[in-house]
Amino acid sequence: MQVYTTIRELREALEEKRREGKRIGLVPTMGFLHAGHASLLERARRESDTVVLSIFVNPTQFGPNEDLDRYPRDPEGDLRLARDNGVDYVFMPEPSEMYPRPSATGIAVSGITSVLCGASRPGHFDGVALVVSKLFHIVKPHRAYFGMKDAQQVAVITRMVEDLNLDVEIVPCPIVREDSGLALSSRNVYLSDEEKRQALVLSESLSRSPIWLQEAGGDALALQKQIAEHIAKTPLADIDYVQVLTYPDLERPTTAAAAKSAWIIALAVRFGKTRLIDNRLLSLEELALAAPPIPQGTKGV
Ligand code: AMP
Repeated sequence: MQVYTTIRELREALEEKRREGKRIGLVPTMGFLHAGHASLLERARRESDTVVLSIFVNPTQFGPNEDLDRYPRDPEGDLRLARDNGVDYVFMPEPSEMYPRPSATGIAVSGITSVLCGASRPGHFDGVALVVSKLFHIVKPHRAYFGMKDAQQVAVITRMVEDLNLDVEIVPCPIVREDSGLALSSRNVYLSDEEKRQALVLSESLSRSPIWLQEAGGDALALQKQIAEHIAKTPLADIDYVQVLTYPDLERPTTAAAAKSAWIIALAVRFGKTRLIDNRLLSLEELALAAPPIPQGTKGV
């Protein structure tokens, strides 16, 4: 495994791999790696000849009052996990390498960034789109792996790739959870034991959602209200948003019976100073189960 801190060295190494016809897989991260990141690396390892892991706490995606300065870091642990997961190249640039001067060029994906985390964290997705597009230009991967833990990010990157005809395949990977149900996140280290215990209300609400949707006759807003009320009963939970939207377009859904695309139940809730996000997709099949259409000819019987 090689570790590079400069764009030039990484490019040279990858140039050779490309000449040899190797398939390159990229896993972009901000480090403090856990089993969620490892699952992306495993998938990349299975599907690529050369696996590139980037570790970069990207300043442009943090707002002025967010946790950039205290974002957890553990370069040695990260390199161990990378080695254990068969990474070929680790790219760990300093901010000055990625941004020798402030970028005059920006990338803004509109529409789908005006809701959920885009609404709560202004400019966040502009920063994400900028750094991911820089990484795509630096690495030129055939495939790039992203976790559905950040489902809106997957929607934004996929849309950017489509709109700009970028030659990379985006591979969404399932959310990895602790046995308790808590979605793994680098930010979980901020949680006290009690906050962590109470944070289970997120995954628990998501698991109960299909039943609640059924009870609500397939009504998205009623489901949303039910989840918000349930989470609000948890003393340490401070809700940022609870939203049920279509996925990946992130629009207001009508009813489950009329659904033409999957839905996402997206949650952002603060426990103390820590803002956690979690989500669950409801496929068309699950939506149909939650609100079976009334069979023709039986209406009113
Ligand atoms: P981060 O380091 O938090 O920016 O995450 C880097 C990548 O790992 C993103 O694509 C995340 O969606 C993904 N990721 C983070 N946590 C998880 C998780 N629990 N399960 C699956 N993917 C994850």
